[in-house]
Amino acid sequence: MEPINRRRFLQFLPAAAAIAAIPALAACKKDLSCADESALTADQKATRKGVQYVDTTMTPGKPCSGCKWFKTAGAEACGTCEKVPGPIHPNGGCLAFVATGS
Ligand code: SF4
Repeated sequence: MEPINRRRFLQFLPAAAAIAAIPALAACKKDLSCADESALTADQKATRKGVQYVDTTMTPGKPCSGCKWFKTAGAEACGTCEKVPGPIHPNGGCLAFVATGS
């Protein structure tokens, strides 16, 4: 068996981080919905629509919980976002996604 060198180890780190995030996602409350826009202004609703926010990301590996703009409120509640107004689902997603650490 070939020993793992430093380069291969560093290449493996992003995949390891993604794998480590899976239990956190699985811990989300199954029926949690963050789609209620009733408290938002028309402009705020337009912002959500403009970035195509959804409660379940359309891009695998890019959930709100992995985005630098996401502020968690725990697995049982909707979080918030520095870029998108309103309640934000940890498993949600939008076009403004930026990976944490970027
Ligand atoms: S920018 Fe988009 S992907 Fe990132 S936390 Fe906000 S809503 Fe989620």
